[in-house]
Amino acid sequence: ESISKVLSVQGLRKQYGATVAVDGISFDVGRKEIVGLLGPNGAGKTTTINMVLGVLEPSSGSIHIEGVDLAKRRAQALERTNFAAVYAPLPGNLTVRQNLRVFGLIYGVKELSKRIEELIAQFDLERFRDVKCGVLSSGEQTRVALAKAMLNRPRLLLLDEPTASLDPSTARDLRARIREFATQGTGGVLWTSHNMYEVEEVCDRVLIVSHGKILLEGDPRTLPGEHGKATLEELFI
Ligand code: ATP
Repeated sequence: ESISKVLSVQGLRKQYGATVAVDGISFDVGRKEIVGLLGPNGAGKTTTINMVLGVLEPSSGSIHIEGVDLAKRRAQALERTNFAAVYAPLPGNLTVRQNLRVFGLIYGVKELSKRIEELIAQFDLERFRDVKCGVLSSGEQTRVALAKAMLNRPRLLLLDEPTASLDPSTARDLRARIREFATQGTGGVLWTSHNMYEVEEVCDRVLIVSHGKILLEGDPRTLPGEHGKATLEELFI
């Protein structure tokens, strides 16, 4: 198992009764790499992410995080990555600073006050420092959620449709911040999306999934060239 892979998924399957949500998916995510999972509603993207998060048990297949088997040594696998998900809503009755403080304490972040101030500055949250998260707009809440995810410098970042409720300019801003995170080399990113133009802008590699299977894999900027954008759009019908 190469250590340059932060995530390695082999033959992953999830079945609910007669429904096969994920049907034998294999892929890797390397450090500094942003990998997109692109596909229509019901393709199995969220189910895949939830299995990697450890909140859903696979029917079969394996997930290794930096070479550690998630099924066998879950605590160790999670500890290695400091992994983070951005989609969980933050407690709305706590201020931005209180939220970062609570999660920082849970994660055991060293020099927490200093780290919180760095993140508040990095995500342009100065104005909202003492504002309750529940009253922030969805774009502002996403910035807080990202700052929270970055608290303990994750080595694997899982983003499930992170731009779904954002306006185009906030979405662009989020993509730039995630690119920055990847470029810094701290970790790898797995990103789900419906939008192939977004994936083309932000991802180094894309996996096109439909009915729980990977149909195509490659550089999103050359894939459409090879196969024709129209063909990709037809896959989603
Ligand atoms: P979307 O883009 O709409 O979020 P998705 O690609 O994330 O879709 P999933 O949420 O992973 O898709 O769902 C994949 C399939 O598994 C769907 O057909 C869904 O109905 C089914 N499914 C998911 N969870 C369950 C469950 N708990 N019980 C039964 N079927 C489920």
